[in-house]
Amino acid sequence: MRPVPPPLIDRHTHLEGALDPVWVRRAAAQRGLVPPAGLEALWAGEALPFEGFIAPFLFGAGLLDGAEAVREAVLAVARRTQSAEGSGFDLWVCPHFLVIHKAQISLTDLWRGLEEGLAEAQSWGLASCVVVEAVNHFGPKHGTAVLDLVLPECPSFVTGFSTGGLEGSPFREWAPIFDRARLAGLRLAAHAGENGPGSHVREAVLEGGVSRIVHGIRADAATLELLAERGIPVDICPTSNRALAADVVPHPLPRMLAAGVRCALGTDDPGVIPCDLATEAEAARAMGLSPAQLDLLRRHGAEDAWCLAGSSKGR
Ligand SMILES: [Zn+2]
Repeated sequence: MRPVPPPLIDRHTHLEGALDPVWVRRAAAQRGLVPPAGLEALWAGEALPFEGFIAPFLFGAGLLDGAEAVREAVLAVARRTQSAEGSGFDLWVCPHFLVIHKAQISLTDLWRGLEEGLAEAQSWGLASCVVVEAVNHFGPKHGTAVLDLVLPECPSFVTGFSTGGLEGSPFREWAPIFDRARLAGLRLAAHAGENGPGSHVREAVLEGGVSRIVHGIRADAATLELLAERGIPVDICPTSNRALAADVVPHPLPRMLAAGVRCALGTDDPGVIPCDLATEAEAARAMGLSPAQLDLLRRHGAEDAWCLAGSSKGR
C-alpha cells in the first residue's frame, strides 16, 4: 500500500500578489481604475522583465486598502491552496510598504484582515503563517523601519522575516537587521538569485545569516553545494520564474535537486501570474523530474514549511 503523502504546502506566496483577477477587476472598477496593460499581459501568460512586473504587482497591492480587502486576499490564497488539494501556505506580507510607504491601510486593519482571513482558512483545515517582508532595494534603513513597525505588537501568526523586491542592496548591510529579527524570535529568509546574480544567494546565507532562500535559481554549483551541506530550504516557483526570469533556461530545479538542495514549490504571485500548486507540480514534472523527485519536493515542502513548524519565539 502506498504510504500517505505528506501535506501539500504552498511554500511561498505573497499577500500583495494574491488577489483573484475577477476581484481585482471589480474592485478597480469600483475605484474608477483600469488594470494596467502589463497586468493584462501577465494574466494572459506573457513573460515580462522583472522591472515590468512591478507596476502590475503594485496595482493589485494598491487595492489592499482595508481589512476586508486583506481578508479577501488571504481567502484567495486559501481557495487556491484548497482547490489544488493543498493543506497550508507560508504567506509573505509587506506591512511597512502598505502602512507607511503607501499609507493605504492602518497596521491595525492589516493585522485584523490577516487574522480574520487566516482564521477562516484554518476553519477550512489549512495551516498558515505570515512572513514579514522588507523591500531589499529600499535599503537596510527601511529594514529597521519594518522591524520598528511590526515588532512592538507582533501577532503570533507572524513567524518569519524576509527581504524581497529587487536585490538592490548587499546582504552584509542587512546582517544587523536579520540579527534583530532573529533575536525577536523570527525565522529568516531572503529573495536571492532571482532578479540579481547567483552570488547573492551565497551572500544572503553567509553574510546575511538567513536560513531559507526564495528562488535562488541563479546560484552556481558551489553555492548549491553550500545550500545542500547546510540543509537550507529553497522555495521554487516555476511559473513566476518563467515569467520574470525568462533568461534562466533550462530551469535549474532538476540540477538543484540532483545537488541535494532542499527545494520545494510555491506560487509566488498567482493573482498576477496565474498558477497554483497543481500547475507548479506539472511544471516541475515537465522539467523531467522523476515521480520520486516530485515526491521529494512535496516532502521538503512539508518538512521545511514554517506554517507547520509554528513559531520559534521563546526558543
Ligand atoms: Zn516572492
